[in-house]
Amino acid sequence: MINVDKIRKDFPILKRTVHGKPLVYFDNAATSQTPQIVIDAIVNYYSNYNSNIHRGVHTLSQEATDKYEEARIKIQRHFNAKNPYEIILTSGTTHSINMVASGFASILKKGDEIIVSALEHHSNIVPWQMLCEKTGAVLKVIPMLKNGSLDMEAYYKLVNKKTKLVFCNHVSNALGTVNPIEKIIEAAHKFDAAVLIDGAQATPHIKPDVQALNVDFYVASAHKLCGPTGVGLLYGKEEWLQKLPPYQGGGEMIATVSFEKTTYAGLPHKFEAGTPNICGGIAFGAAIDYMNAVGFDNIASYEDELLKYGTQELLKIEGLKIYGTTSEKTAVISFNVGEIHPYDIGSILDKLGIAVRTGHHCAQPIMDFYKIPGTVRASFSFYNTKEEIDILINGVKRAVMMLS
Ligand code: PMP
Repeated sequence: MINVDKIRKDFPILKRTVHGKPLVYFDNAATSQTPQIVIDAIVNYYSNYNSNIHRGVHTLSQEATDKYEEARIKIQRHFNAKNPYEIILTSGTTHSINMVASGFASILKKGDEIIVSALEHHSNIVPWQMLCEKTGAVLKVIPMLKNGSLDMEAYYKLVNKKTKLVFCNHVSNALGTVNPIEKIIEAAHKFDAAVLIDGAQATPHIKPDVQALNVDFYVASAHKLCGPTGVGLLYGKEEWLQKLPPYQGGGEMIATVSFEKTTYAGLPHKFEAGTPNICGGIAFGAAIDYMNAVGFDNIASYEDELLKYGTQELLKIEGLKIYGTTSEKTAVISFNVGEIHPYDIGSILDKLGIAVRTGHHCAQPIMDFYKIPGTVRASFSFYNTKEEIDILINGVKRAVMMLS
């Protein structure tokens, strides 16, 4: 059970006003808010043991190293990776995807096929297009259906022995659709293709088990699950991480360097060149602890209540259309009202203290599919309330009245 009044006290930002109105924060799919315990972890790092890790003999460096490596273990346990060194700390989902795409440049050959879903964020499309340009591999797309789900029959026909890699998000950021990743992974593995799952939108709501999923790569960003920006993870199966070449060269990722030959460090350091976001990594660990204390089952059932309530109330507004209507979805409502431009609705909502996202949500192919320029997206978190949804409903009604 979620005690939302108690939870809201953990988030100092929820007390602020915007344009003189209490903040109603419904842009959680873009970034989540930060609880005091995570802010404290950041302040504690810079106040007490800020120093570089892995190479210092002094106390501060050892304390920072221990805390950073503890965070890696928290992340490993959270995702149920077999080994801590299968967790590469990155700057976020985008960085993690680019790391894998860059690694596959040395594996793919002309004519190999890689498969993407139609529901992807640009960060899970563009790096693969760049990879195809480099290698001559061919990008195939799993089409989507009107209700915002993937056409799985089409996928089963696309995947074949030429397929080397399949990448798909666990949850769509634009529509909230939860994709059947178990089936996607199973079908790809029949042809020995690797699978990368973009968990950026799933991880705030679902606790993924990478071993049970048998997924090859799973990526996510801390800032979507109550952590800071600029840090995230790449989970990779050990055999894949051993096979892929390093992404960047520099300090930290080497075993020995001479002008004749450099040898690389083992995992995870091979993929962690340079000074990492030490404070961010530690705060990511604190965020994972916080989310687990709230409990992912509690989060999922409470957010589902908010989703059902918001959907039911929004649909009472004349001319309002929701995109993404499958029952398998997280608490994201993407909508338009008649011909009104989403930006105009979003701007009026902002004046009422309500933060929503408007536009294509970095998923232009989805907008093209629906032949719309964008949507208004309200995305809920476990610290939101039904009363806030009522404020949104009244705000949308007011915006529609002003703009019609
Ligand atoms: N994939 C999805 C599904 C996302 O929602 C996002 C963030 N909007 C990203 C990738 C990119 O994440 P980041 O900007 O943290 O790298």
